[in-house]
Amino acid sequence: MNKQFRHDASSKQFKLLQAGFKLILIALLFTFTACGGKTDNSPAESRLIIVGFDGMDPNLAQQWMDEGVLPNFSKLANMGGFHPLATSNPPQSPVAWSSFATGDSPGKHGIYDFLRRDAETYSPDFSISKTIPPENILNLFGLNLPLDEGQIINRRQGSPFWTDVEAQGARSTVIRVPVSYPPDPIHRMMAGMGVPDLLGTQGTYTLYTTRPVAAAGSSSTRVVRMRPNRSGHISTTLEGPIDPLREEPKPLSTPLLLDPAGKGAKIQLGDKSFELAVGEWSEWVRVEFDVLGPISVTGIVRVNLVAGYPRPQLYVSPINIDPEAPVVPISSPPEYAAELASRIGLFHTIGMPEETWSLNENHISDKAWLEMLKTNLDEREAMFFDAMDKNDSELLVGVFVQTDRVSHMFYRGIDELHPLYPETDELARGAIRWIYIEADRILGKVMEKMADNDQLIVLSDHGFAPFRWSVNVNRWLVDKGYLVLNSGKQESNIAFSDVDWSKSTAYALGLNGLYINRKGREAQGIVEDPEARVIKARLSKELPQWVFGDDQQSVIRQLFDGDVIYAGNANGDAPDLVIGYEPGFRASWQTTLGAAPKESIEANAKKWSGDHCITPEAVPGVLFTSFKPEQPISQIAQIAAYAREHVKRAKSE
Ligand SMILES: [Zn+2]
Repeated sequence: MNKQFRHDASSKQFKLLQAGFKLILIALLFTFTACGGKTDNSPAESRLIIVGFDGMDPNLAQQWMDEGVLPNFSKLANMGGFHPLATSNPPQSPVAWSSFATGDSPGKHGIYDFLRRDAETYSPDFSISKTIPPENILNLFGLNLPLDEGQIINRRQGSPFWTDVEAQGARSTVIRVPVSYPPDPIHRMMAGMGVPDLLGTQGTYTLYTTRPVAAAGSSSTRVVRMRPNRSGHISTTLEGPIDPLREEPKPLSTPLLLDPAGKGAKIQLGDKSFELAVGEWSEWVRVEFDVLGPISVTGIVRVNLVAGYPRPQLYVSPINIDPEAPVVPISSPPEYAAELASRIGLFHTIGMPEETWSLNENHISDKAWLEMLKTNLDEREAMFFDAMDKNDSELLVGVFVQTDRVSHMFYRGIDELHPLYPETDELARGAIRWIYIEADRILGKVMEKMADNDQLIVLSDHGFAPFRWSVNVNRWLVDKGYLVLNSGKQESNIAFSDVDWSKSTAYALGLNGLYINRKGREAQGIVEDPEARVIKARLSKELPQWVFGDDQQSVIRQLFDGDVIYAGNANGDAPDLVIGYEPGFRASWQTTLGAAPKESIEANAKKWSGDHCITPEAVPGVLFTSFKPEQPISQIAQIAAYAREHVKRAKSE
């Protein structure tokens, strides 16, 4: 069977339900268990255990090890070693974790950025997974029903080492490694970054409010205005996936009721009724969306009462796929998610569980956001140790992403030059140190549970740098004549809505990518090959000369040639040039989506205040080992080869 699970889906974000719907409708005719790995549950004699702490920075780790607050990291460093680990180019999590998994460069695994550009439309697209819609839609009595199965595929190419070691007779357990959706058919896997919410998006939360809220700056936010009656009662709905049985797109929904209560508010959602104090989180609440007769789809949410009566405000998390009744497989074997939930309780399933945007938009407080993150961390910890205690895999890999998320959102607490630094309180100033201490606590538990002949590797995919300035690269390209706007336009909205492609030669999209508007490749390309080389050379010279501010700070350290660093160009998505920003600078959110606003550089006054999508040499990750490897491991892509070799040798002994 194809290593990618085949099942129903369709391309637009809300249509994920069709997958669930049809899965239910055909009474689970697909037996995904056939894809699962071995059922041998005998104890592993020796294990290679790999633990990832996304975004852990070598300088911060060293600083806090020196202060003595990371005793387990210090202990591990003394056992084997500790040094910076060179990251991928660009140093973005999906790119680096794909190199980790396959041992390949991006030119071979085909993941170059969080975002790829659709050369047909010049619009941004999620680069990690894609859904291919069912081709035949039966339109019957006004209802759209998918006839054949669509497909969800992981765009990463190449073979991950956990699959390769299974071919050598070993067993692999992989817990929440980024870019592992759909799950690989191995002994045991819980998919990580890439798993969507029930709407098919990467995380859409809902803010219910009685107050005016500035228009949401992101499509990941839904703002719903509520109107209490005289007694304060509010009756509204939580919208779910699109109803697959209607021609006109209309979401399924479930009632949401709110009333004043002693503690703060009484909330009724689904079949659960509970009270919350202001700032308090609910447990996971199961929500059900009725499709037809007995057919329904369930998801799980957590609710936070952001503000109380008389002007209540309520935050509802993205609707996570229900691990006990997943509409698409999120684990391998598929029943593993439900089994795990029966042991550790309901848990987040979405690939990127921390809705950083809700904090960026000040829709929830620092404290509430950190509490949510702590719950996610606890759930991952429970998943990881459930697998470690089972002790039935020669290879165990788990990744904790919370170190990265806290660093993104709370760098303003350690960077005195960030615009928000003066406003940060004690909680914000201590947040990154706190999450490193949490990582140390988890590491301590891993080391305690290790057997004598187990080996341990702890790594991060990249480090961190301040993010003080947002760089509008497309503005620069407009000012220099590379990108030409439609006549009369001074700026362009996202997806290059106001760009005249018949006169444009280069454009920026994603966090680091720069593309030439090539004839025969881009839908409206004009640049022939020889000229493309000239334009690339000019950009590589001019962009690093860009200086900013009174002190003439350099904005960009280096440009990398895609033809050189991405030989092979798997997926055909490789950018022509990769921008290596200086620390302190990063592509603006506008740039990532293909907009060209008025200013070329703007102060970053958002809480998302630390980043790593800059020149790779400035943000290496960390590597700790419990042993001294024969061949030094200096680059993240070298771990796969070590794992393959180690397991092979262990098998032959
Ligand atoms: Zn990150």
